[in-house]
Amino acid sequence: MRRQRLAKERRSSSSSSNAAAQVTEEDMEDLFSDVEIQKMRVSLLAWYGLNRRDLPWRVSLPEANDEDDVEKRAYRVWVSEVMLQQTRVQTVVDYFNRWMLKWPTLLHLSTASLEEVNEMWAGLGYYRRARYLLEGAKMIVSEGGQFPRTVSSLRKVPGVGEYTAGAIASIAFKEAVPVVDGNVVRVIARLKAISANPKDSATIKKFWELAAQLVDPSNPGDFNQGLMELGATICTPLSPTCSSCPVSDQCRAVSISRRDRSVLVTDYPSKGMKMKQRHDFSAVCVLEVLKGEEDMSDSEFLLVKRPDEGLLAGLWEFPSVLLDGEADVDNRREAMNRYLKAHFQIETRKAGKVMLREYVGEFVHVFSHIRLRIYVEYMVLHLKGGMKMKGAFRKRDTETPPWKYVGNDVISSMGLTSSVRKVYTMVEKFKQQKIASSNPPVPSRKRNPRSNKKGTTTTN
Ligand code: SF4
Repeated sequence: MRRQRLAKERRSSSSSSNAAAQVTEEDMEDLFSDVEIQKMRVSLLAWYGLNRRDLPWRVSLPEANDEDDVEKRAYRVWVSEVMLQQTRVQTVVDYFNRWMLKWPTLLHLSTASLEEVNEMWAGLGYYRRARYLLEGAKMIVSEGGQFPRTVSSLRKVPGVGEYTAGAIASIAFKEAVPVVDGNVVRVIARLKAISANPKDSATIKKFWELAAQLVDPSNPGDFNQGLMELGATICTPLSPTCSSCPVSDQCRAVSISRRDRSVLVTDYPSKGMKMKQRHDFSAVCVLEVLKGEEDMSDSEFLLVKRPDEGLLAGLWEFPSVLLDGEADVDNRREAMNRYLKAHFQIETRKAGKVMLREYVGEFVHVFSHIRLRIYVEYMVLHLKGGMKMKGAFRKRDTETPPWKYVGNDVISSMGLTSSVRKVYTMVEKFKQQKIASSNPPVPSRKRNPRSNKKGTTTTN
């Protein structure tokens, strides 16, 4: 930012500076000329044809003339584009392949449950995306099953915004509409040397306008994918390889930086203001209930379901409470005791014998706008009256979240969010260290021959 500002000041004070090199927000008013547009379309499409990455969602379904192929292509574009939001391509490939094996068509997806979809999504983050895919599939199928084909009709599908609608409409249905993601913003900001904050609504509007100008009406899908591919592989945030760029002749940032060494192409787009993150704190208790005081190998964990709205909606986790701020171990324990008592009538002192209760560690999990510090404790409880008692713990009021007890085997194979998986791994490590060091009463993972292969699950 400083370099950019200095460069700007230097340029404005220089009487010999070229008017074309003046980088002001007035440039925002410029559109691409017809000649620029034609050249960029030809160069970009040729480059994309030769350099496109081989990705599973790009497997061309033969010119997609057949109705079924068109529908399949739209479905694949939709799923891949939703997965790719906020997630790296390399990560998405595996998820996409597994998803398509399980739900190869929209119709298959529409029959899935939210739990199955969340499980398949586990680890990808931003779980609302998965729920929207399911809701969208159900909606489209309930309305006849034909995929909406235009941006305006696609926007009516839950969770489909301007970007996803543009991607599906242009790639699957050849509608000449633009798409603007982070990669496109970067490429266009450099092509036009736009120094305005890319997060301002006026600037965003300008990017859409410029992208709409560029999109090739005869091949909008490839053109849009080419522009995104260029941003992902050549015009990267920190080290663009302008010498290999098919549109460098039309790039204003390159031309400015050649004239003025103090300006770098990476000065565009401006970095803007980072959204301030909130700091939250939560206490998590991995509660393992023993089936018998003497039998350490047979146990179950309590899992609770998060509310259907909000962060990580509808996903399973270990009991957790949000704290008012940083808290010491006593305060955290007190908060957890109150929670267990209020929702499950578990009063640790009265319920049975607490075989072990220890602080295991803590970590920070970063969501887009929240830094959540998670304090993890592990508690092993043997219930008075044995496992038959566990159902009685549930307080039957509307505030009690859905819950279930699951065995070790189930929990290991469940689709859990990355933070819940991390909590579980921390506890597993802790148990191993404990067993290795002093052979204390910690349940080992040795399977009980009486338990079935998939472990046990008890749900309310
Ligand atoms: S010439 Fe460089 S800065 Fe300009 S679009 Fe190409 S890679 Fe990006």
